[in-house]
Amino acid sequence: MKIGIPRALLYYYYFPFWKAFFEALDMEVVVSEETNKGILNKGIKESVSEICVPIKLYIGHAIQLLNKEIDYIFVPRMVSIQSGEYFCPKFMGLPDMLRHGVKGLEGKIITCQIKSDSDDISAPENYYPMAEVLGVTKEQIQVAASVAREQWIGFRMFNKSGFTAVEAMKMIQTNDSLEVLLNNQQSSKPVLRIGLIGYVYNIYDPFLNMNIIEKLRELNVDFITFDMLEEAQLQEKIKDMEKTLFWTFSNKLLGAGLRLFHEPTIDGIIHLTAFGCGPDSFMGKLFEFESDQTGVPFMSIRVDEHTGENHLQTRIEAFVDMLKRKKFIA
Ligand code: SF4
Repeated sequence: MKIGIPRALLYYYYFPFWKAFFEALDMEVVVSEETNKGILNKGIKESVSEICVPIKLYIGHAIQLLNKEIDYIFVPRMVSIQSGEYFCPKFMGLPDMLRHGVKGLEGKIITCQIKSDSDDISAPENYYPMAEVLGVTKEQIQVAASVAREQWIGFRMFNKSGFTAVEAMKMIQTNDSLEVLLNNQQSSKPVLRIGLIGYVYNIYDPFLNMNIIEKLRELNVDFITFDMLEEAQLQEKIKDMEKTLFWTFSNKLLGAGLRLFHEPTIDGIIHLTAFGCGPDSFMGKLFEFESDQTGVPFMSIRVDEHTGENHLQTRIEAFVDMLKRKKFIA
């Protein structure tokens, strides 16, 4: 059986788990191509216009998988990975949105509910509802979930040691950490270090963000993202807040941002957000307050389906220039 996985949304956080899971069940895993204009345009065409860009992209990726002779597209219903917190509602409604809202996807979606009290989503009960469609037993699912958990832990270990999620995936897939290390070597010691705060699907999709990671590296700027931090570090600044942001990944970003504003090695913070994201509009304001209080420079970059690359390049260069002047001249 061929299972398609869209290269979007939590692909950049859970793909190593899902790939290992389906492969352990003797399924072939097919991933949609890297985001391109065609995928984005298809997603825009099939989505309601007011929805956020990452969901439009996800829809485009799911449609793209239809060309790859897949049997099913795996679209999990992400409900919760933290006790008392939930995913953004768009994640919870994703399987229905695709199944009932996108022509050609009826009958192609396989789903299950993911509920956990931590990032570890390996509890086999999550996946039992798919057993009949996949033609496997509960015992096989238990074994596959355990194999997948090991892969995912390896991936997160590399990610938390400072590699991007994309690099960490490559490292566990090829066992070639040296090649990734050599590719990432900057020509000289980074002159600045910034916090790059954004959801994994915004910071790691080079088409959506016009390759912000490469642009920063070319400017000799080191960066840290929320997924490079431990959960305890993400919780440190928000655990005593009277009210947080409701949605789990938004809270992870908020926790990372608030922590990095107080980190002496951080020269500035960039918040990368996508057009149409409700949770990010709150978070951006909180970061502005924190920047005012700490004096750490902050810039928000919002990407949408029309953002021009020159505009992004100019803003990043100007921000980096300002940080350099602040650090070395002021
Ligand atoms: S958190 Fe924001 S960007 Fe992510 S799915 Fe929800 S609305 Fe879209």
